Amino acid sequence: MQLHIDDTFSKELPADPITAHTRRQVFKACYSLVKPRIPSQPQVIHVSELYKELGLSETDISSEAFKATFSGAKVLEGTTPYAMCYGGHQFGHWAGQLGDGRAINLMEVLHQDQRWALQLKGAGETPYSRSADGLAVLRSSIREHLCSEAMYHLGVPTTRSLSLCLSGDQVWRDMMYDGNAAYEPGAIVCRAAPSFIRFGNFQILASRGDKETLTQLVDYTIKYLYPEIDIDSPSRFSTLLKAVSEKTLDMIVHWQRVGFVHGVMNTDNMSILGLTIDYGPYGWLEGYEHGWTPNTTDRQNKRYRYGHQPAIALWNLNQLANALYLLQPEATPFQEILKNFQATYLKKYYEMMSQKLGLVQHKDVDRDFINQLEKNLELVETDMTIFFRELSKILPSDTSKVTINKISLAFYDQSKLDDTASTLWQEWFDAYLKKLNADNQDQRTRQTAMHKVNPKYVLRNYMAQLAIDAAEKGNYNLIDELYQLLKNPYAEQPDMEKWYAKRPEWARTKVGCSMLSCSS
Ligand code: AMP
Ligand code: MG
Repeated sequence: MQLHIDDTFSKELPADPITAHTRRQVFKACYSLVKPRIPSQPQVIHVSELYKELGLSETDISSEAFKATFSGAKVLEGTTPYAMCYGGHQFGHWAGQLGDGRAINLMEVLHQDQRWALQLKGAGETPYSRSADGLAVLRSSIREHLCSEAMYHLGVPTTRSLSLCLSGDQVWRDMMYDGNAAYEPGAIVCRAAPSFIRFGNFQILASRGDKETLTQLVDYTIKYLYPEIDIDSPSRFSTLLKAVSEKTLDMIVHWQRVGFVHGVMNTDNMSILGLTIDYGPYGWLEGYEHGWTPNTTDRQNKRYRYGHQPAIALWNLNQLANALYLLQPEATPFQEILKNFQATYLKKYYEMMSQKLGLVQHKDVDRDFINQLEKNLELVETDMTIFFRELSKILPSDTSKVTINKISLAFYDQSKLDDTASTLWQEWFDAYLKKLNADNQDQRTRQTAMHKVNPKYVLRNYMAQLAIDAAEKGNYNLIDELYQLLKNPYAEQPDMEKWYAKRPEWARTKVGCSMLSCSS
């Protein structure tokens, strides 16, 4: 197995001088050297096609070397694994140092001009493990592996997942924090991204007033991740914030488009590249609902609910701005960028929604019409994915009565539509039909365009759970079936139609399907 290794983060940024794994506060450093824990009986259970992008072959991925490297059993020669030091705001409160408590960066690989940092999740303790064990369980690893790849194929900026391994060890977890702890199979995912730097990497240095290391980290970030920024400019700190804010905004518009709810948008889970990172208690909207969050740990405040994700992204960017302000103490440029976020977000959001509706982009998008749709979608439980997909079947010549029937598959219980709700829908469809007629687009062209932004298949919460239930019994077939399905989420895939269905009733209250906790 030949990888073109090209480490930069660990070569160019300051290291913690201590190499023991003991938990500690780490100062004046961006990372600590660590060694992955040796798994007792590693087994590779799935590999994604990302291997090709790393320059690996099919023979490589079935080799002993691949298994040893990506389960943490053996450190590749010439590499120096490390855990990153970062802090973060958790649920709105500054939490101090957090860091890679169970993520271990193996190396950076260059292939066809693309840089990939490869990182194991669940590979054992680091100085940042605090009171936890550094491990990950099979259920959450399956969820991370499948969802990272599904998001990538949906066109959502995300970290990727190369492989999923069983460690052969048992991990003690209290899944719902209710006193019912049990042993679960341990697993290790190898995830990949151009970089795993988070907002929190900057925050921890700023919180300690460590301007020197903070400048080094900013300059590293510009050099490798934002090379278009002038590294010699004294205003590069606010320019970086602007670039990060644009990427973050783009990511959130995509989340809203596909109905993805991250669940734990703490600042340590915000990538400096605007990638979706740290797949924990995330979920997909089934019934469209602005107030929904999958994360039971956030049940009270619902801070990270679907409809609040854009506001939280801005809140998090504010925290990043506070960190960078230390190096460029002028409020105005930072404030301008943050002020712009809201207006730009709304503009992009409404444009994206008009695309979902298959409408021609006019100069002024009809925001009231889209706001009314959001309200209608909550009148009775309505499946988001199915609604938008079915919408492309509507013809400009239809009557509003026909249109409601055409999207009826999206309603969980159509009989719950009372007179008021039916009238609201009829009014909305009347307006929609008027717009379609005014646009006068070719039906085929419109449908094709709608199918490119409205996925037919997403990783519904219960689907991941079915794959988990089977895997816990030793059957890994469904992992691959879902992986294959979600490689083409916009395609019709007639043999896979069974996955184009609303959440079954049994999944409504099942743990893992609609309720997840941070425990993984
Ligand atoms: P998360 O909410 O998963 O993003 O994690 C928040 C912080 O807790 C990060 O610093 C993680 O590295 C750390 N963490 C989460 N789970 C574990 C674990 N099992 N062992 C060690 N650290 C963990
Ligand atoms: Mg995290």
